[in-house]
Amino acid sequence: MSDETRLIHAGKVAETLVRTVGPPIQKGSTVLLPNAAALYDDDNYLTYGRAGLSAQSCLQDALAMLEGAEGVTLYPSGIAAISGAAMALLKAGDEILVVDSVYKPVRRFCDSVLKRFGVGVTYFDPRLSPETLVETASAATRMILLESPGSLSFEMLDIPRIAGLARARGILTAIDNTWGAGLIFKPLEHGVDISLQALTKYVGGHSDVFMGSAAARDPKLVRQLADGVNHMGWAVSGEDAYAMLRGLRTLPVRMARQSESGLAIAAWLRDQPEVAQVLHPALPGAPGHALWTRDYTGACGLFSIVLKPGATEAVDAFLDSLKLFGLGFSWGGFESLAIWCDPQLKVRKFAYDYGGPLIRLHVGLENPDDLIADLRRGLDAYRG
Ligand SMILES: *Cc1c(COP(=O)(O)O)cnc(C)c1O
Repeated sequence: MSDETRLIHAGKVAETLVRTVGPPIQKGSTVLLPNAAALYDDDNYLTYGRAGLSAQSCLQDALAMLEGAEGVTLYPSGIAAISGAAMALLKAGDEILVVDSVYKPVRRFCDSVLKRFGVGVTYFDPRLSPETLVETASAATRMILLESPGSLSFEMLDIPRIAGLARARGILTAIDNTWGAGLIFKPLEHGVDISLQALTKYVGGHSDVFMGSAAARDPKLVRQLADGVNHMGWAVSGEDAYAMLRGLRTLPVRMARQSESGLAIAAWLRDQPEVAQVLHPALPGAPGHALWTRDYTGACGLFSIVLKPGATEAVDAFLDSLKLFGLGFSWGGFESLAIWCDPQLKVRKFAYDYGGPLIRLHVGLENPDDLIADLRRGLDAYRG
């Protein structure tokens, strides 16, 4: 045979691979099938690489274990998990109730995509009681989209109660559980139908990979979610799935450390004269603490503070004087971050006056004493 033919068929993978601790990262669109009968035997063979190969399926198994799920679907980002679940389960004429403190890009998706496809979107005040919330549902309400604690402002929802009341009315519940990371809060155990996460945050843990997941217990829902991914044509790479699986191995130790440092810093901040309020549900006395104590087994390093009233220039001086806290929108990585939240609150329907600038902090894996010194520098600049 000629070199050109031999080059196409040389260097094939061995029939059996040696075992390593992590899964092999398979790269493949084509899946070679063992015989002609297998070509159309979808029940027994994965026939195309878009469905995910070894690393993706190992990650799905690990996440299903963590979430207590029957199945998990993967998406190319956290936003794609939320939009993908909505597109898989909603149709024109349906209504979705969305918590007003939802992550802002989710609101953008609801307002610019769901509405265009004829899905009614109604935002609800996170302070509503579960009873009032579920009473506001109409005959068209198909899903309630929750996020707890709320993005930026950390309102806690009574998830088990909302999930129970919604289920009694045949309404699906889905939660953005990125803060709980499937570890310190397990939505499916509390009766929620779909647990969504931006794996980009704590599971990845290193601020360098995008991915999202949807976990469910009901096999019919698992199937609908997987069909949704297939219909949209989404795929995640083996390298990215491997990075997420690596992140999962250390998730509990990272979160424990970041929770401990975060709480120490939150308690210190509460005592500072420039700080009006600390919004951290795991901090005793903070809003939502009773629900956190009842439903959560831990915290992460993300919370907000309300400063005593001050000018925008003072807020800028606070942020610009920080040397260890980077200024950036993401979180869940090993590094500390800070943002000013107020400009993002303007889109909310149920605006709430916090009485001063709202600053969100993400506490990383640095030594908390060093972070406190950095924040002291920031508060001095705020006062100055
Ligand atoms: C970051 C984030 C998302 C979106 O994740 P991406 O991977 O960036 O798309 C969704 N929900 C919350 C609460 C987030 O913080």
